[in-house]
Amino acid sequence: MLKDGKVFVIPCSGIGKALGTVGRAAMYEVVEKLRPNEATTVCLPLLTIRDEAVLKLARNNSCISVDGCPFQCARKNIESSKGKLVASFVVTDVLRENRGLKPEGVTELGPKGLKLASILAEKIAGRIDEINNNR
Ligand code: SF4
Repeated sequence: MLKDGKVFVIPCSGIGKALGTVGRAAMYEVVEKLRPNEATTVCLPLLTIRDEAVLKLARNNSCISVDGCPFQCARKNIESSKGKLVASFVVTDVLRENRGLKPEGVTELGPKGLKLASILAEKIAGRIDEINNNR
């Protein structure tokens, strides 16, 4: 399968939560702009329903969870699926470090929310580099 060999950046669903939107925006920034050749993503619900092909990918490749809040649904899903979790990020942690960057809303993050997503994306990209350097 094409996605094999890449790091999987898996965000939570975060429906109705602006911080979930930030996590997904950060993921897209990583897989489309910052590290398109090294990273990819997959729908978290496919792990939840135990899709065989996705389970195999998550178990055979490094996975990074990106969660909107401390419930950490993505991290818990990867762990309970026995996926190869190598790092976890939570948007609330990044917001705590950058208190002025509160997103405006769920559908429109606004400049501050987008900046928060970019800061998180850089952190994820850095972690991907560490993973690949240690292979
Ligand atoms: S981690 Fe938080 S924001 Fe994300 S899906 Fe779970 S409850 Fe929603």
